[in-house]
Amino acid sequence: MRLRNIPGADEVVANSSYCINNPAQFKGLYKSEVFKNNNPIHIEIGMGKGQFITTLAKQNPDINYIGIERYTSVLLRAIQKVEEEEIPNLRFICFDAAEILDIFSCYEVDKIYLNFSDPWPKDRHSKRRLTSSNFLNRYNTILSKEGNIEFKTDNRGLFDFSVDEIDNHPLWKLDAITYDLHNDATMNEGNVMTEYEEKFSSQGNPIFKLIASR
Ligand code: SAM
Repeated sequence: MRLRNIPGADEVVANSSYCINNPAQFKGLYKSEVFKNNNPIHIEIGMGKGQFITTLAKQNPDINYIGIERYTSVLLRAIQKVEEEEIPNLRFICFDAAEILDIFSCYEVDKIYLNFSDPWPKDRHSKRRLTSSNFLNRYNTILSKEGNIEFKTDNRGLFDFSVDEIDNHPLWKLDAITYDLHNDATMNEGNVMTEYEEKFSSQGNPIFKLIASR
């Protein structure tokens, strides 16, 4: 994601009714205090401009969706797209997912989507990859027993790394995998495309997807 400092982005994020500004305060309380229902919570980490999670929220009103994005300059674009609409089961959090244990309690989340996560190609940065064992450990804490992770990318290096991290992890296992999502009838059923997915698949790149659970 190309980053530009957009003047006013911080203020828009701080004032949007879609954004949860003090997420640590709602740890363990999203259902009761934010959504005011008992529906499952699905999150997308690194939601970018939000096309994926916004579409899912409109399709599934009985699921609560929380999109997490580190940068206000990016989150701003997602807010601008939904500000005229009312989507009560959708919220955004501007936050670095490395600290995700500060904002969700044990078993509070029912599904985690990771879409076209930053690859961090240098070995010394591998712990920052959202599918590294460090992150798998964090996801293990916040995900409900039946919860799972769905991960899509066009980056083969990151995908192979992610498969290895899951295979080598004592708790996680692969449930499904494809190296060409858009030509895999079973795994592509109901697929909602992200901004990056549209861009890279239109350039002819195959899309890789895995689903993992414990
Ligand atoms: N998921 C979107 C898509 O598929 O179109 C955006 C993909 S973009 C390559 C990755 C996004 O993840 C960026 O917007 C980046 O700021 C965000 N991101 C990366 N690491 C993050 C982290 N640790 N916490 C929250 N967001 C993160």
